[in-house]
Amino acid sequence: MEFDKQGADALMEITSRPELVFTNGAGSWLTDHNGKRYLDFVQGWAVNSLGHCPPDVVRAINEQSARLLNPSPAFYNQPAMDLAKRLTSASCFDRVFFANSGAEANEGAIKLARKWGKLNRKGAYKIITFEHSFHGRTLATMSASGKAGWDTMFAPQVDGFLKAPLNDIDAVEKLIDDETVAVMLEPVQGEAGVIPASNEFMQGLRNLTRQKGILLIVDEVQTGMGRTGTLFGYQQSGIEPDIMTLAKGIGGGVPLAALCATEAVSCFEHGDQGGTYNGNPLSCAVGVAVFDAITAPGFLDTVKARSDQLSEGLIKISEKWGMKGERGSGLLRALLMDRPDGAQIVSIARDLEPEGVLLNAPRPDVLRFMPSLNVTADEVDLLLQVLDQIIATIRG
Ligand SMILES: *Cc1c(COP(=O)(O)O)cnc(C)c1O
Repeated sequence: MEFDKQGADALMEITSRPELVFTNGAGSWLTDHNGKRYLDFVQGWAVNSLGHCPPDVVRAINEQSARLLNPSPAFYNQPAMDLAKRLTSASCFDRVFFANSGAEANEGAIKLARKWGKLNRKGAYKIITFEHSFHGRTLATMSASGKAGWDTMFAPQVDGFLKAPLNDIDAVEKLIDDETVAVMLEPVQGEAGVIPASNEFMQGLRNLTRQKGILLIVDEVQTGMGRTGTLFGYQQSGIEPDIMTLAKGIGGGVPLAALCATEAVSCFEHGDQGGTYNGNPLSCAVGVAVFDAITAPGFLDTVKARSDQLSEGLIKISEKWGMKGERGSGLLRALLMDRPDGAQIVSIARDLEPEGVLLNAPRPDVLRFMPSLNVTADEVDLLLQVLDQIIATIRG
């Protein structure tokens, strides 16, 4: 099939894309417009938690779309209530507000914290976030993010976000004043290059925020829904945050996000929050199917087994080629290279014949791996083997 140049030119140019059109997907594999297949270790940026077009999700879409698409968020619908009950019973949270993207869920978390500050902390509104963090692309979530250059990109920023270095509890404490309402972080910084917050730091933040009477918000857009090997990332440090956001994996490829909060913090009043598509039955029915698959007996054990396999394989590659090791949590992992070969490896892997491999380099010297949570042992082995061959080719 010919590449649709006119179609490509009709789209806004927001990133450099290869001249490929993906037409089909199944599990860990994508097929392009020429029929070439690709092993996918990007999965829509950790979105397709069950792989491409998983039968459970396809069934949920078909059944729900034939029954009810959207009665409006001003009415109850059963899939939204079913998914909210599942999320609250599996977590430390009591209430859920559904959204359509991670950025929108985080906007909701920021609004909820500010509202809580208005009611309980004399109008405190400042939120401490972290250097290199990523919380989304709306104005407030860009302001919350710690990405280099983002502070001036669409100036002026939304006010009230102070940045601390990750894993430095003293730096956080120094930034807290009477106007501070919350600390917000990713349990593992994904876009920054897969940098985990230590368990000690998470526990330290929980103690500090309790002591100061402010909120702890976890952005689990990337780490939630089984990605780290537990259902939610915060569970690994044994803490209970006040607010959590979810997106990416919860929709299994369909736009869906959630803002979860404890009863004490769920202080929105009528008119404070809403959205035309929020909590629509189609997306929520998919969320129920994804939730049930991820919480099925044994599923997370398999995630842990694949995670160990990937981690051990990456350590071997790192040792063989004199790299700097690997890091991550569950099936969100990174190989730390000793040179800025990331972009070259990504493009060689994609162009391999007869089958390509899709990888991501969030930094020039870091490769990130976020396969589907049900990736097979053979697929992980194949990835490791191909990666080793590519590195051998580059290094002669
Ligand atoms: C992807 C991501 C977001 C933004 O989610 P969108 O659905 O792209 O708006 C926010 N926070 C984290 C941690 C993410 O990984």
